[in-house]
Amino acid sequence: MPEHATPIIANIAVGFVLAFVFGLAAHRIRLSPLVGYLVAGIVVGPFTPGFVADQSTSNELAELGVILLMFAVGLHFSLKDLLEVRAIALPGALTQIVAATAMGMAFARYHGWDLGGGIVFGLALSVASTVVMVRALQELRIIESERGRIAVGWLVVEDLAMVVALVVLPSLAGGEGQAASTWALLAKVALTLTKVGAFVAVMLIAGRRVIPWIMHYAAHTGSRELFRLAVYAVAIGVAFGAAKLFDVSFALGAFFAGMVLGESKLSQRATEEALPLRDAFAVLFFVSVGMLFDPRVLIEEPGAVLATLAIIVLGKSLAAFAIVLLFGQKLASAVTIAASLAQIGEFSFILIGIGVELGLVPAEASNLILAGAILSIAINSLVFPLVERALAGLPARPHHPLIVPAPAAARPDPIATVQPAQAPAGHEVIVGYGRVGSFVGARLRQAGRRVLVFEEGDENVEAALRDGADVVRGNAADPAVLEAADLAQAHRLYVTIPEPFEAGQVVEQARAINPRLEILARAHSDAAMQHLARLGASRTIMGEREIALRMLEGSASGPTPVG
Ligand code: AMP
Repeated sequence: MPEHATPIIANIAVGFVLAFVFGLAAHRIRLSPLVGYLVAGIVVGPFTPGFVADQSTSNELAELGVILLMFAVGLHFSLKDLLEVRAIALPGALTQIVAATAMGMAFARYHGWDLGGGIVFGLALSVASTVVMVRALQELRIIESERGRIAVGWLVVEDLAMVVALVVLPSLAGGEGQAASTWALLAKVALTLTKVGAFVAVMLIAGRRVIPWIMHYAAHTGSRELFRLAVYAVAIGVAFGAAKLFDVSFALGAFFAGMVLGESKLSQRATEEALPLRDAFAVLFFVSVGMLFDPRVLIEEPGAVLATLAIIVLGKSLAAFAIVLLFGQKLASAVTIAASLAQIGEFSFILIGIGVELGLVPAEASNLILAGAILSIAINSLVFPLVERALAGLPARPHHPLIVPAPAAARPDPIATVQPAQAPAGHEVIVGYGRVGSFVGARLRQAGRRVLVFEEGDENVEAALRDGADVVRGNAADPAVLEAADLAQAHRLYVTIPEPFEAGQVVEQARAINPRLEILARAHSDAAMQHLARLGASRTIMGEREIALRMLEGSASGPTPVG
């Protein structure tokens, strides 16, 4: 069958295969796989020889990625969170948009474009890509921290600003009849804002009741398939409805759908269902960005590309940094927000596309935006993790440092807890401080042991600190994080996280560091037990089997010894 007859399949197939190959290559040379996805896009794009994927199909596929991504972000965000960050996100994002737009306008003036062109170009430079930012925050596991929330709130405001900008742009091209058109314009903006308001009201009043009800109903059918379907139906259905009925962006629609569902107890399960598809389509997003890029612009206009890039990477982030600090936020928040905004993406493409169509900016502007986007996304994927690493080295304050020592009051009193002579040497390391880890940790602390916890969730970090443990905040499966465990000197390692793949990575690294260390690992299946044992766990404990044994305890037959 000729490939043009099945453009969607061709796009997905080529997109996935090449993204995988280049992502792997990027990983090998220690770059973010994201750079590989972008390169894959350039390869299948129209500006390089060989296979050319269909642009509009890939844009739509990428949009699906944005929808699922924002839905998943919404699941972990409550209305309360959104209102809490309002005081900084709203003025911050708006001021930053104005600052970045001014820089873009100065650039446009230099190039002799008129005022309308300057505004479009500046606006396109001022909005960050949702996908790039959310992915980075998730990867670094800070999306649920305070600064992660501010960053997401900031995105929501930018998204709303864009909805308004898209309405206003055509009027910029109008020219004559200013007085009449000013009123018409104001009326249009008012109508748009009313629609957004109506959408939010519908979601908060009706959606809040209906969506959790649908999910509970689906969950009670007992069919996993129907539950999964319910997740996708709600996420994509609401996003689509929001766009069609209320002119709200897909992303914002999905975010609200997620937020409304997030208040329900099923949100955790819904997240698990949304993840795989979300990750897959987010990859296609980067491929589609790569496709738009015409490398010739680098040779033809290197100066203009550099200037554009400087506005995005330096100008915008410095402005954001100053604004966040001015609002009295922590240094870490200012750095994270500045770093997360130092890129542009999907909204910029839409804005500049409309600008070119309306004759506000020359086509050249579009090439500059695309070059600026691909370069800034690549730079962002390399620099953001470094910035976060550096932040981890800041003086210890409970919200950002990598290692948080237990508060002095919670440390064992060296005199009162003189340990018996036979107390084992070395400290205890616990990975994960949830239902299992916190129980283990509390007992060990009661016994006066020194405990070091690895945990990535804010609440459980607090719990560990309250129990008097030292805490390393982060993903223990990351070698750079686990390094802090000083496993060569440790007494025991308790791997209490439920996910066998990550647990296996922890066990494997620990075993390599200390061949004699006693490693206890949690498992939930026979396969996981074997996997962990093979990688070096001294003992694996399967939750379900222990539950079964306890259930048999005291029964007529008594527990039969299990091997
Ligand atoms: P539970 O299943 O209730 O015992 O919770 C498991 C805990 O482990 C949660 O608090 C997670 O935040 C934490 N956790 C899961 N994976 C990791 C990881 N790779 N590194 C650090 N903490 C983790």
